[in-house]
Formats: sequence, C-alpha cells, structure tokens
Amino acid sequence: MGDKKRVKQTRYERLAKKAGYGNPLFHGKIRYCVRCCMPETAEGLAFDEMGICQPCRSSEQKIHINWKEREAKLRKILEKYRSKDGSNYDCIVPISGGKDSTFQLYVVTQVYKLNPLAVTFNHNWYSETGKYNLENALERFDVDHIMFTPKRSAVNKLAKKSLQLIGDTCWHCHAGVGAFPLQIAVKYKIKLLVWGEPGGENHGRATYFDPIPYDRDYFTKISARYYAEEVVDKNISLSDVLGYVLPSKEEVEKAGIVGIYLGDYMFWDDERQTEFVRDNFGWREDKIEGTYKGYKSAECRMAGMHDYSKFIKRGFGRGTDHASIDVRTGLLTREEGFELAKKHDAQRPSKSLDYYLKITGYSEKEFEKILKDKRGKKAKLLP
Ligand SMILES: [Zn+2]
Repeated sequence: MGDKKRVKQTRYERLAKKAGYGNPLFHGKIRYCVRCCMPETAEGLAFDEMGICQPCRSSEQKIHINWKEREAKLRKILEKYRSKDGSNYDCIVPISGGKDSTFQLYVVTQVYKLNPLAVTFNHNWYSETGKYNLENALERFDVDHIMFTPKRSAVNKLAKKSLQLIGDTCWHCHAGVGAFPLQIAVKYKIKLLVWGEPGGENHGRATYFDPIPYDRDYFTKISARYYAEEVVDKNISLSDVLGYVLPSKEEVEKAGIVGIYLGDYMFWDDERQTEFVRDNFGWREDKIEGTYKGYKSAECRMAGMHDYSKFIKRGFGRGTDHASIDVRTGLLTREEGFELAKKHDAQRPSKSLDYYLKITGYSEKEFEKILKDKRGKKAKLLP
C-alpha cells in the first residue's frame, strides 16, 4: 500500500543513512548519555555529573539489590491481600496480552497460587498475534477475565485529538489502561492491583530505591496527562469516554486500593522473560514497526505510530529505547546500539501511519507539523 506509492525516502531515512558509523542520528546537535544511546530530549531524563542517565544508574542499582529480601516483602503483601475464605478475588492483574501480561499471570497463579481477576482495557488496535497471546494466556493460566472495548468511532476521534493534546496518538490507551482496571477494582472491591514492569528502568524519574508509588493518578502523571473529563469537547462527548473516567479519590481511598509492580520485587529481565513465556507457555513474538525486537507492544498494530511520533517530537524512538537496554546489559556496544537505533527510529512506519492518516484525515505534513510544534527546549535543536 503506502510502500508502493512511496518511491522517495523520507528526510529522516536519508539522514540515518548519512550519519557516520557508530554516531547517533543527531550527532553534535543534542547530547546523549555517555553510556547508552539515550538523548537528553527524553522526557524527564536526568544526566548525572558524569553524563550518565538515570535508567543506566538504575540498571546498576538492580545488581546490588537484595532480591531475596524484596521477594520476601512481595510474599508478605500478597498474603495480606489473599482472600481468606475465597469469597472474592485475591487481586486484579491488568493485562494486555503482551509478554509482561503472560509473565504476571504466571507469577501470580503458578508461583504464589493466587486467584486473580484478569482485566483488559482493549485499545481496539489489537494485532492478530496480540489476540492470540491474550486468549492463550487466559486459557493457560485458567483465570476469570473482564475486557472493555471502546467503540471504533470514539477511538478514532480520540486518536486524532491525542496528537494535538499530548504529542502522541495514544491518549485513549494511556488513560484506559489506568482507568478501567481501577474502575473494576472499586466495583468488585478488590484491593490489590498487580502490575508488571518497574518504573526505574523505563523512564528517568523513578529509581529502584525511590520508585514512583502507584496511586489513582499514576497513569495520568506518567503518560495520559489529561483526565477523561478534560478531553470532552464539541466532538467528543462524556459518553464517548466512560471507560476512561477514573473513580474519585474518595472511592479509591475508601476501597483501600493499592498497586504494586512485580519488577520492584523481582529481578526484571525482558529478554529472559520473553524466552521463558515463549518456550513454556506458547507466547508469540511479532514483527514490530520501529524496532528490531519482537516482544514489546506485540499486541498493538499501532505501536509503530506511537514511537514514530516520539521520534519526530524528541528525536528518538523505540529503536533507541531497545538499543539502550541492550547496551546496558552488555549485548551491544554503544556504537552498535546507535547503528540499530537510527536505522529503526528513522524508518517511516508505513502500515500504522497510513492507517492513522486515514482515520484522522490529517495529511502527513500536518501530522509532522503538529509534533514539531510540540518540541520542547532541547528538541527545538532537531532538524
Ligand atoms: Zn544511559
């Protein structure tokens, strides 16, 4: 489709080809962490006096943490919330069908023998692989499940507004993933939510010793930025966003809801966990736009769009995130990391971008302009 029509490379694709071996894409324009491939334009990312980024520091902390002690803490928390008489679920496991979801369900049901309610906010952009993986996890771990699927017209309208609002295409997903499991927790009076990956390594603001605690507003703070009520306008009605409305502070407090991240209590290793769920539980990888790894966001056919938006706005995409992880664990040198990062980041995600332009009516020029207007301080230096 889009590929055939397009003969010319984009400006960024040409730039990526021209940057010298081992150099980052915007060499000399913006600063990069001296250890991995992360640029200073990443949201909330702080460099220390040595020029090393927070996620690099976190990955060092991780090696010195007493994981046995942390695991004992986890066991205590889970025991506290276990339903003693079986009259309710022990916890909620919010899942998407990604590899973390399968791993979370494995840990909760097989290691700790809990009876969870699995809850899915369906962004309604599921890939075939994603549908299979979700279904497969529910069958393998034999759990009850609730899923919310927003109507297509609302998803399309929200995807359009999202770009102007937060500079990526996925407000509805950021907001729904936070709000819907919490709605269910309040309605079903289930006090514990068990999330997967730790914050410390994925954004610059948290560390293993100073994690961002889960609360009602966590996802609004880290990704959605706006509450559902604030998104309503003359095209988007309150009834379009019911799945995204958070329970009130009082409701959440009264229900005594707490949330934990398994990654704060057990050594989180994406590569190993991917192999583990693939080899033991039939989880499937997929080809994903914008990166060389097949496991992150395999459930979503718009992942490439989310990452390409970030690339236009901040000068890096998922390729950089993944290369940085691999540099930290020693799988790649920093130079090899930059090579992979720029090749994947700069690539136009034809499938998802063409679809996005179709549902929103934006031209590609408009799309790029909206994102460029969103560039912050350092990112203004980007071409
Ligand atoms: Zn770094």
